Amino acid sequence: MTAALVDHYLIHLESKLGNSQHYCGSTEDWLMRCKQHQASSFERFPDPQIVNGTRRMGVKHGLGATFLAAANSAGIRWAVVRLWRGPRELEQELKRRKKLSHFCPICNPEPQPELSAIIEF
Ligand SMILES: [Zn+2]
Repeated sequence: MTAALVDHYLIHLESKLGNSQHYCGSTEDWLMRCKQHQASSFERFPDPQIVNGTRRMGVKHGLGATFLAAANSAGIRWAVVRLWRGPRELEQELKRRKKLSHFCPICNPEPQPELSAIIEF
């Protein structure tokens, strides 16, 4: 049996948000997912609030990832810089490696290609 393959994407931010300049995700449809990221925003509270027992800095609007919603609201532009197609577990492998910049063609002129069981677009 062949494992289902999904789209994996790497996003590079034009400047850092906190300590991070990259985001990766996996989805059945990367373009639709990135439109969700693009349409999301993050409304920062004047002071942190406790919401349902959790300390919150603000509230996200939209279906995109909170990190990218915050980037949008901070005026930080971003772009999808790499796409792979592979098993869903690849996202965990990417995130486990921490250094997403190694895979980024903007940050690294010779980005690491050596991920297992992937197809580059
Ligand atoms: Zn980068």
